[in-house]
Amino acid sequence: MPTSLHRPTATGPDSLAPRAARRPCLEGDGTRSRTPGPQQGRVHQSGSGWSPVYVEENLGVMSVGFLLSSPDDAVIWRGPKKNGLIKQFLRDVDWGEVDYLIVDTPPGTSDEHLSVVQYLSATHVDGAVIITTPQEVALQDVRKEINFCHKVKLPIIGVVENMSGFICPKCKKESQIFPPTTGGAEKMCQNLNVSLLGKVPLDPRIGECCDKGQSFLSEAPESPATSSYRDIIQRIQEYCDQHHLPEEKII
Ligand SMILES: [Zn+2]
Repeated sequence: MPTSLHRPTATGPDSLAPRAARRPCLEGDGTRSRTPGPQQGRVHQSGSGWSPVYVEENLGVMSVGFLLSSPDDAVIWRGPKKNGLIKQFLRDVDWGEVDYLIVDTPPGTSDEHLSVVQYLSATHVDGAVIITTPQEVALQDVRKEINFCHKVKLPIIGVVENMSGFICPKCKKESQIFPPTTGGAEKMCQNLNVSLLGKVPLDPRIGECCDKGQSFLSEAPESPATSSYRDIIQRIQEYCDQHHLPEEKII
């Protein structure tokens, strides 16, 4: 099982696995919902548990947001209640047979991260994909996340540098929105001896697709961000293929 420690990312779970892998996504962020597209009230309960919301044939999603009555509702669950919900998402959702389980977690190293790692400790978690942006203030948090992974013995699949430059759609000129003043994720990965899975440039259409619940990969196949996503996905799949036990695979 790979789990992911996320910094805010505009891509969401949809970006993993262009192959026909069945990949559910569990939004492990107990404080807000960032899952676009699927709307509230679409979670059905059956004898075998909650059914995930299928946004594509091979992508099922479960999120706190689905359980709220209005998209503007805030979730302010804390402590035991939040952990209870994470447990419920892992235990009571009828995921069916899956190739990957991706747990999308909030930035930082909080309760959610610890809970997810603890609750999944009996399974084989492939590892964490850590998302950062190039600037030092983001990297500082990510260094802590890397430390956290070491502490809880969660393997690190690698780091993705998001918002890594911006290519102007009009003149194709590249500029740095968040200058990597300390060398960005690349330097950090070298220093800490973790893999850099890739860099994803900003493309305004990523946010647009997220808002509409569309797959950026199919909407903007020619974008440099798309080729970058595809490379990253391939590296994650290769890592999981090499490291996972025959039985399970969880992202
Ligand atoms: Zn321009």
